[in-house]
Amino acid sequence: MSQLIDPFGRAVSYLRVSVTDRCNYRCQYCMSENMNFLPKSDLLTLEELDRLCNAFIRRGVDKIRLTGGEPLVRRNVMSLIRSLGEHVKTGNLKELTLTTNGSQLAKYAHELADCGVKRINVSLDSLNAEKFQSITRWGNLEDVLDGLAQAKDAGLEVKINTVALKDFNENEVDDIISWCGDEGFDLTFIETMPMGEIEDDRTDQYLPLSILSDRIRSQWTLEETPYKTGGPANYCKVKETGKRIGFITPLSHNFCESCNRVRLTCTGQLYMCLGQDDQKDLLSPLRMSEGDDLLMAAIDEAIGNKPKGHDFIIDRQGAAPAVARHMSVTGG
Ligand code: SAM
Ligand code: SF4
Repeated sequence: MSQLIDPFGRAVSYLRVSVTDRCNYRCQYCMSENMNFLPKSDLLTLEELDRLCNAFIRRGVDKIRLTGGEPLVRRNVMSLIRSLGEHVKTGNLKELTLTTNGSQLAKYAHELADCGVKRINVSLDSLNAEKFQSITRWGNLEDVLDGLAQAKDAGLEVKINTVALKDFNENEVDDIISWCGDEGFDLTFIETMPMGEIEDDRTDQYLPLSILSDRIRSQWTLEETPYKTGGPANYCKVKETGKRIGFITPLSHNFCESCNRVRLTCTGQLYMCLGQDDQKDLLSPLRMSEGDDLLMAAIDEAIGNKPKGHDFIIDRQGAAPAVARHMSVTGG
């Protein structure tokens, strides 16, 4: 079957799947404390998610990332991961991975490795227990550190995602870099993106990574690397630790030329761009027929409408987010 190529000639080979919009944390930049989650009846079943992923794999997608909300809090999610892991074993998928807050890793790390997951991204914004609890509102640092220890024990490669937040973790950056070096983790800093209503003003949280990167470069030797994921991060190697450090700068830079990804929500909506509202419903064609012809036609139509890029701006005046949905809908 033909590969998915968008109107700008970009091959779509990477699918991110938000398996749930729910989460056991309430990170301040991501969610408000009182979130209204989708009724469970609106969610695709795990079997439907599996069928959708299979359709994308047949069209040349060779990398799938599960995310959320918190992917590991969806009930029975391991059955989906085990099923998708079969494609890693046959070689149809080069990579099956997930982005997680790490709270459930102590329980699942070994099983994930057994299913064919080799690398995971774990989000962690502070190494200070009180600050960690305050930024996640409901989180417990100890759980995440236990989970990371299990991930290492299971042989999973770990990349830490840290959202750079003004007046919050600015002063911890060197500690986080050292700790990642000691633990053998790569690290990516992320700028806050204006997605969904939250209680705080985002202009208060926004810390441009250009500033952070300059500060880091004054303390550490960053060597340029050719390493690229097709995503928005620019990676360097920290000479002192030997580990990679990346900067995701959606607001400062345009990273869209090499975009190879689309995002599927847990209700079957396909978003062609994180920063745009255009979406295509795949739920109806999926449920309308047991065969995949309607689904494939819908996927083709969606890819034919993949926009050239996003236009995120954090408006100094206004509180309105660039896109109304929260990051937990599409999973970042
Ligand atoms: N719950 C999982 C986790 O936290 O890793 C997966 C989903 S979470 C939405 C994925 C990533 O998006 C996390 O690294 C999180 O820090 C980041 N994120 C959430 N909201 C964001 C925002 N408004 N701006 C930038 N990054 C955000
Ligand atoms: Fe949950 Fe991840 Fe959002 Fe934090 S960033 S509230 S862990 S979905």
